[in-house]
Amino acid sequence: MSLATQSISALRQQLTAGDITSRDIVESVAQAIDSNDTEVGAYLSRDVEKALAAADAADLSLPLGGIPIAIKDNINVEGEPCTCGSKFLQGAYLSPYDATASRKLKEAGAVLFGRTNMDEFAMGSSTENSAIQLTRNPHDLNRIPGGSSGGSAAAVASGSAIAALGSDTGGSVRQPASHCGVVGLKPSYGRVSRYGLVAFASSLDQIGPLTNSVEDAALLLEAIAGGDPRDSTCLDDAVPSYRESLDKGVKGTRIGIPAEYFGEGLAPAVRERIETAAKALEAEGAELVEISLPSTKHAVSTYYVLAPAEASSNLSRFDGVRYGNRVDKGTGIVDMYGTSRSAGFGSEVKRRIILGTYVLSSGYYDAYYTRAQKVRTIVQQEFQAAFQKVDAILSPVSPGPARKLGDAKGDPLSDYLADIYTISANLAGICGISVPAGTVPSDEGTNLPVGLQLLGPHMAEETILRVAKTWESVRGE
Ligand code: GLN
Repeated sequence: MSLATQSISALRQQLTAGDITSRDIVESVAQAIDSNDTEVGAYLSRDVEKALAAADAADLSLPLGGIPIAIKDNINVEGEPCTCGSKFLQGAYLSPYDATASRKLKEAGAVLFGRTNMDEFAMGSSTENSAIQLTRNPHDLNRIPGGSSGGSAAAVASGSAIAALGSDTGGSVRQPASHCGVVGLKPSYGRVSRYGLVAFASSLDQIGPLTNSVEDAALLLEAIAGGDPRDSTCLDDAVPSYRESLDKGVKGTRIGIPAEYFGEGLAPAVRERIETAAKALEAEGAELVEISLPSTKHAVSTYYVLAPAEASSNLSRFDGVRYGNRVDKGTGIVDMYGTSRSAGFGSEVKRRIILGTYVLSSGYYDAYYTRAQKVRTIVQQEFQAAFQKVDAILSPVSPGPARKLGDAKGDPLSDYLADIYTISANLAGICGISVPAGTVPSDEGTNLPVGLQLLGPHMAEETILRVAKTWESVRGE
C-alpha cells in the first residue's frame, strides 16, 4: 500500500519504529501527485525540495512529526504563494508570514507540502470558480469535487495528500469532503485562529481539516486549535485530547433528526444513506430524537446577505496597491483601482462585492443587513434550544451527490440553494463534521460519495468526533 494513502496514525507508527522516514512519505506523496494530479488538478503549486528538506529536519517525537499536510491556497505559509484561486494574486504575492494554523502544524512537526485549488476567495461550492484551473472529482472525473476547498478534498480522496487544511465559511470543508468521500471538520467559531487565513466573511470563517479518517481529523484539530492573541475572536479554552474520547461509543447519546433537513429537494438515494447511518447509530445505543429547526428555510438568504456584506469590506484591500496585480492605464488612482479590480476579480467575486455593497448601502442597510442579523440570532437560538434536548444533530451534508462539471453555468442560485444544510452551522458558530456514508450510483455507472453531517453545540467537537468515529467503525465499507 502506497504511503500516500495511509492514515496519519499508521504512518506515525512506522516512522517511530524506524521502518520509514518522513522523506519516504514526502516522496510517495510527490509521486502520487505526479501520477494522479494531471487528471484531478487538486494542486496549484508545490515545492518538493523545500518539503524534502523539512522532512529531513522533522522532529519525529512530535504528534505530527514528519507528516506532510497540504494547505488550501487561502492560508498563509511563509515564503509560499497564496493565490486564493484568483488571478489578482497569482504571481503577485508571496506570504511574508505563517498563518497561526500553519505555524501550529509546523510546531507539531508536520511538513507543509503543496497548495490546493479553491473557488476564488472561497466563494463557491464547486471549485469551478477558481480563476486558475479546474479540479475534478476523483470518483468521477466529469463531476465537481465540491468547494470551496475542492482541491484539498480531491487531493486526499485521490491519494495525493495524507491530509489537508481547508476553510469553511458556509460549508466549504464539509461539502467537498462529502462529495469526495473524505472526512471534513468545521470547528466551532473561535476554536481555531483565523490569523493568516485570507478573510472572506470574518464572522463565519473557520479553518478545518480534511482527512482519511475521523481519528486523523481529531489529531489535526488538536494541533491547530487553541487561543491566539493575534485573533481576538479565537477562544483560550483548553484543547482537549479529542482522540481520547473517540472510542467511547454513543450509548445514551441523544441525536436530533431535524425535520427541515429531510424535506423537499433531498435526493431519495442520499436520504436512504443518511437514514441507514442513523439506524446504525441507534443500534449502537444512541437515542434518535425528532427535532425542528424552523428557520432553516431562511438560512440561505440570510447567509447570502451577510457573507457578501463582509466580503465587500474584506476584499477592499485588493486594489492593486496594497495587494494584487496592478492594471494602470495612467488615468489616475481611482481609475487604477477600478481597472485593477475589474481585471483581477472573476465574475462570482464581483457579484458578491456588488451584492454586499448594495445590502450595506444607506437606504437598504436596515431592510437587508440588519434584518439578516436578526434572523441569524434566531437561527442561533433555535440551535441552542435544540441542544437542550439533544447532544448532536444528524443530517445530510448536501441535498445530492456531486453534480456534473458545468451544470450550474449561468445559474449561481442553484449552487447557493444546495448549501442549505451546511450554512446554518456557520451562522450559529457551532461545530460540524462530514463523514463518509457510502455512495449512490450515477446514471453513468460511477459511484458517488455521500457525507453524513453531525452538528454539535459550540465547542463540543469531542461529541461530534465521537459519534462520527462510532459510525465510521460500524459503517463497514
Ligand atoms: N458555498 C458557500 C459560498 O459560496 C460557502 C463557501 C465557503 O464556505 N467558503 O459562499
